[in-house]
Amino acid sequence: MKSSRISVKNFHADDSFVGRVQKLVREEVIPYQYQVLNDALPGVEKSHAIENIRLAAKKLRVEDIGAEEFYGFIFQDSDVAKWIEAAAYALAAEPNPELEKTVDDVIALYGSSQHENGYVNSYFTIQAPEKKWTNMREAHELYCAGHMMEAAVAYYEVTGKRELLDIMSKNADCIFEEFMHHNTAAYPGHPEVELALMRLWRATGNEKYKALAKHFIDERGQEPNYFWKIEEPNRGWNVWSGSAEQDSDYTQSTLPVREQKDAVGHSVRAAYLYTGMADVARETEDADLLSACRTLWNSITKRRMYVTGGIGSTNQGEAFTVDYDLPNDPVYAETCASIALMFFAKQLLENEHRGEYADVMERAFYNTVLAGMQLDGKRFFYVNPLEVIPGVSGKAVTHRHDLPVRPQWYACACCPPNVARVVSSLGAYAYSENETAFFIDLYAGGTVVTEKGLTLTCRTEFPHYGDVRYTVSGNAETTLAFRIPAWSENTKLTVNGEELALSDITCDGYAYITRAWQDGDNVMLTLDMTARVLYASPKVAADSGKVCVQRGALVYCAEEADNGEILPLFVREDAVPEALGFEPETLGGIVPVEIDGYKAEDNGMLYSARKPKLTEKKLRLIPYYTWANRGENQMRVWLPVK
Ligand SMILES: [Zn+2]
Repeated sequence: MKSSRISVKNFHADDSFVGRVQKLVREEVIPYQYQVLNDALPGVEKSHAIENIRLAAKKLRVEDIGAEEFYGFIFQDSDVAKWIEAAAYALAAEPNPELEKTVDDVIALYGSSQHENGYVNSYFTIQAPEKKWTNMREAHELYCAGHMMEAAVAYYEVTGKRELLDIMSKNADCIFEEFMHHNTAAYPGHPEVELALMRLWRATGNEKYKALAKHFIDERGQEPNYFWKIEEPNRGWNVWSGSAEQDSDYTQSTLPVREQKDAVGHSVRAAYLYTGMADVARETEDADLLSACRTLWNSITKRRMYVTGGIGSTNQGEAFTVDYDLPNDPVYAETCASIALMFFAKQLLENEHRGEYADVMERAFYNTVLAGMQLDGKRFFYVNPLEVIPGVSGKAVTHRHDLPVRPQWYACACCPPNVARVVSSLGAYAYSENETAFFIDLYAGGTVVTEKGLTLTCRTEFPHYGDVRYTVSGNAETTLAFRIPAWSENTKLTVNGEELALSDITCDGYAYITRAWQDGDNVMLTLDMTARVLYASPKVAADSGKVCVQRGALVYCAEEADNGEILPLFVREDAVPEALGFEPETLGGIVPVEIDGYKAEDNGMLYSARKPKLTEKKLRLIPYYTWANRGENQMRVWLPVK
């Protein structure tokens, strides 16, 4: 059953968990990131992203910009785009004339860097105007354009202002001309523009944009391979050594997309591509394309995903490796990749409402995506390890990318503004709708308005507690479909106090309640928040003999700050984890979990025939998303069992 996500404008968070994180993004993250993009914070990694756009605009007008140069990665523009998108969603939550004026100024600046024919990109305008569209594999021109198209759609949707939408429509027309009429075998090395063109098509109604998205998807992986056999022999310049050897998997271009069976290559590229594929499949009723999406979804979520919803297990190409290769450290699990996985999950949900998609979306959000940001909103993880040993992590040559604490910013800063935009648009992921039903995909406190004229008010302390109460305002005969998470083994659902038989009304992970809803009706969903021990498949070598603990949507970890050194700790084989009470003062408010275990003595020998002495010890676990907020210390998600 197809559906559409709701507009971000139709959801208003209250002051419960999601609302608090959104407020943090509005009040701390967005202003902080604007300062970073303007190089206004001494000691923080230089961005130069806004200055690049200013230089590009200047170069268009006066030609000579002296010794001034583009600075940063070739895709620096995309950081500005993601920031604008996050700011747009923040404005949907709360008017802020000062922020709106700032965004308007950035948009005006960006517009003044646009060429007469619609082309816009600061790197190529400043540094290499003669090389436009000559390095599709790595130059990220369409990637930057895609992000700015997403920003344009978001800002238009929230404010009604068309300036950026018009700029990016003109840019999309320029791209259409180039790739539909001239360079027709080409497609982007880093997918993103496909999903963005679909959003631009929805916002403008211009069919060309949908056709172009489909074209890029259809061309990908056709023989002869565009990147290696057509482009490479003629290119003679490189910008990036991301895939120095000929590796078509890196760009998901080994096969046409409908024939791809395994999620391969750069994990963010992969999941952005699959999101675009799922959207095109939905809008063109392409059953083969949807079937390929399902196959790739299974490849990721059944064999190549961490328990935290992280994907892409190696830093070599920031990529997927092979089935069940999920080392806890070294690991990659880029924050953007889990955000991209949320996008893919939501797009599949819009094709067919199946709880497994929403379960993974929730897993990725509440674990890896939120862990990507420090609790004060001022530091960010790019890589999200499931085990950290300071002194090894971040230091050993094999572990340099696995940092024990979040940096303030990155030279390659794709992740921080990506977190900001996904957190502030969470309402659009939490709900979707079609002609017959309104779907509750994630549980987030606040009010949501449906197309059928109902207003639903959700009160919940999820993810810390499992009671979710919806109160209806308005009257309408329709279906409300509540997701029943797979982790909730014993779920209770009542309408106006009367319990429903879940097995009679549940299909593919959603409980469907059809009735003439009346003002004041209420639905109470009680999710099973029992903390449970999880075991990995025996095929996952890294987790052999280990367990982790999950409670509701939250995966837990053990940190040194609570337990002393983590490496000598074991969980007792038959131990049952026990949730403690809510601790409002701990790590922004959490429910810690305790589990019985042991600590092994260290006899000082590297190897020894003497069995280590064990002392009983209660291990204290915290939600993974809160780790590394108390300085450098050891952390483990998967703990060995004795
Ligand atoms: Zn990233």
